[in-house]
Amino acid sequence: MPVYEYRCNACGRPVTLTYKSYAAYDAALAAGLICPHCGAADLTRLISRVTVAKPGRDYGSMSSGEMLNVLEGGDTREIGRMFEQAGQDQALDDPTMREVGERLLKGESPGSIERDLDASSAPSSASPAS
Ligand SMILES: [Zn+2]
Repeated sequence: MPVYEYRCNACGRPVTLTYKSYAAYDAALAAGLICPHCGAADLTRLISRVTVAKPGRDYGSMSSGEMLNVLEGGDTREIGRMFEQAGQDQALDDPTMREVGERLLKGESPGSIERDLDASSAPSSASPAS
């Protein structure tokens, strides 16, 4: 069911429009969208944050295992981007991964951080394939 987010320019309130089908939305759009709060026909489409296409990979939805793969790749710029995105999306609730990200952004090498992690949490996290 298509859902569209708008903001009313007349009353400033957010407007969520839900339609049974895309055809119904097209018909409503052709007829002119109207604010359900104040009746003004002055709505601005809001692009929902989650539907904005991100350049490159969507790190925010990565699992810890996938993040580790990026870490093992050793591309510090990609790793930095990954943690930036993950932080923005608040998807990174694993304190270990957060610590790793902070250390990488400070310029530590992925290899030395990984050795620390292995030492502190071995052996279960050493082999994600198990
Ligand atoms: Zn309004």
